[in-house]
Amino acid sequence: MRMPSLSHSDQISIADKARQARSVVGENLTPAERRSLRQQAGDLLSREDAVLVAHYYVDSELQELAEETGGCVADSLEMARFGLSHPASTVIVAGVRFMGETAKILSPEKQVLVVEPQAECSLDLGCPPAAFGAFCDQHPERTVVVYANTSAEVKARADWVVTSSIAVDLVADLAAKDKKMIWAPDRYLGDYVKRQTGADLLLWDGSCIVHEEFKGEVLSNLKQQHPQAKVLVHPESPASVIELADVVGSTSQLILAAQQLDSSYFIVATEEGILHKMRQSAPKKTFVAAPTAGEGATCISCAHCPWMKMNDLQHLIAVLQSKDTEVVIDEEIRIRAAMPIQRMVEYGRQSA
Ligand code: SF4
Repeated sequence: MRMPSLSHSDQISIADKARQARSVVGENLTPAERRSLRQQAGDLLSREDAVLVAHYYVDSELQELAEETGGCVADSLEMARFGLSHPASTVIVAGVRFMGETAKILSPEKQVLVVEPQAECSLDLGCPPAAFGAFCDQHPERTVVVYANTSAEVKARADWVVTSSIAVDLVADLAAKDKKMIWAPDRYLGDYVKRQTGADLLLWDGSCIVHEEFKGEVLSNLKQQHPQAKVLVHPESPASVIELADVVGSTSQLILAAQQLDSSYFIVATEEGILHKMRQSAPKKTFVAAPTAGEGATCISCAHCPWMKMNDLQHLIAVLQSKDTEVVIDEEIRIRAAMPIQRMVEYGRQSA
């Protein structure tokens, strides 16, 4: 069965958007300017009864500020869960658009703001709701499983939402019940899950512009130079990179592996923002980013997510002052999208 593929113009438009995002990333600040902005942002968070939830991939300054001010640094699902359980009336999301939406879906009564409304995700962009809905309509017999990196509309169409930490287990369980599935949007993660479980998955043709840049051949060369190194890989990466991994896992699973594995040198194939948390939690160990160069490399990202890097202290302060980046979701869509997310949360709780 043929998988749907993005048109050439859709692919170009995602690459163009990534380049545009990269070009507007803020100027370097002096240490004194950073300290002053950080103080200002912390004061505003407290004054506005707001909590900052940040993804592992954003700037280290924002990660530190989130932790210092009682917020959290986490993966997208944990960010949303934290926002739900925290008493603050306003949740500020430092990440990309779908993360703000997921937080709002779970906390409809709260004000949810995003630090940067233009921060997107190539997986979300590569899975337009209308095209995805039409694809699902063509395969009504299939259970629809979508990754967290999708819009509220796409989640509203799904039977299940999954994160990379539970994707293999959940798909294996569904396959054991003879379910055939649609998987969207990441084709690399879908391919990995398919190989791990043997499930009948029909894959959508999306990709993360950061992870697909990692190259197996150059990673293999680097591994030869550092034979003691352990390789940590996010499963949004190509199969040739996953093959070289000592651990394949979600952001949280990779951070845990970095702490627990008996090695002092790690090569890490995921967005380089995660290195901050790894160095914080295992300060005596060495972490280097996996290479993105090699044949076929365009280096749109070079292990930097251009949208994650749009989040900065200046934008955070501006949003706390203006409150003009509130996430608004149609209530009918929100209710439908909440169901597969809550199903996932319940599944995670039962299998923990
Ligand atoms: S790193 Fe990839 S998956 Fe994560 S937000 Fe950026 S484009 Fe999306």
